[in-house]
Amino acid sequence: MPGEPQADCLFCKIVAKEIPATVVRESETTLAFRDINPQAPTHVLVIPKAHHPDAASLAAADPQAAADVLREAGEVAFAEGVAESGHRIVFNTGSGAGQTVFHAHAHVLGGRGLTWPPG
Ligand code: IMP
Repeated sequence: MPGEPQADCLFCKIVAKEIPATVVRESETTLAFRDINPQAPTHVLVIPKAHHPDAASLAAADPQAAADVLREAGEVAFAEGVAESGHRIVFNTGSGAGQTVFHAHAHVLGGRGLTWPPG
C-alpha cells in the first residue's frame, strides 16, 4: 500500500525513531533532520512521514503531503537563515540522478554559493 512504512527503509526507521537523527522541524506529516554527510553549511532533509519512493510518487499519491514537504522546506530555509541569501531545494529522483535513499526527500542546501548547472 502506498504510504505504508517499509521495514528496509532507512528514513522510515528515522520516522519510527529506530535510528537517531538531528531533527530540526516536525509536523504531523513531515520530518526535517540534518543530513549525515552535509554538502553545504545548511543541509537539511525534509521527508514525508509516510513512505513514498520519490517525489513524483509522493505528489501523485498524496499531493497535500507533497505540498507539506515543500512548505516545511521553505520554513527550514527561513529558520536556517538562508531564505534570503539563496538556497536550493532538490529532489534527486532515480539512481541516475544520485538518489540513494528511496523514500522521498527534499534536500535544503544553503550557506554557500551554489553553482548552476549542478553536477
Ligand atoms: P539522495 O542521495 O538524494 O537519496 O539523498 C540521501 C541523503 O541521505 C544523502 O545526502 C545522505 O548523506 C543522507 N543520509 C543517509 N543516511 C542518513 C542518516 O542516517 N541520517 C541523515 N542523513 C542520511
